[in-house]
Amino acid sequence: MTSVTSEKERDFIKLLKQNALKVTPHRLRVLEEITQKDAAISQPDLEKIVGKEIDRVTLYRILSNFEEKGIVHKIFDLNGTATYAICTADCSENHHHDQHVHFICSVCNSVYCLEEIAMPKIPVPANFTLHGIALNAVGLCANCQSEQ
Ligand SMILES: [Zn+2]
Ligand SMILES: [Zn+2]
Ligand SMILES: [Zn+2]
Repeated sequence: MTSVTSEKERDFIKLLKQNALKVTPHRLRVLEEITQKDAAISQPDLEKIVGKEIDRVTLYRILSNFEEKGIVHKIFDLNGTATYAICTADCSENHHHDQHVHFICSVCNSVYCLEEIAMPKIPVPANFTLHGIALNAVGLCANCQSEQ
């Protein structure tokens, strides 16, 4: 056991335990990569980064597991590629409370969570049930802006 269990890793372990998930190196690794940057991470990018350690089926299972438990949420970028971001603390199993706008950069395709913007209430027709709203703001991110 190394002494370099970071605070971040301790948080991940807590998060997994709270959600009744076994703490495994693979799960910790995926959490680490998802929280690595400000932007969300796409599934292909994630596959590229952890591909040597985690096979695709396992990775897919970890992601859908995390999504079910309210640990991560999925956003589709401008190409329709699944992209994952970490959830806020008040998400739980089958109850995602992080309905928020996502900013997608039209140059680099990065996805950012804009958590401080309230989502509109969408009135749906009678006998319709609303499960979620996907609202994307499209533009230039700070990185691409500075390269202009
Ligand atoms: Zn969530
Ligand atoms: Zn960009
Ligand atoms: Zn988000």
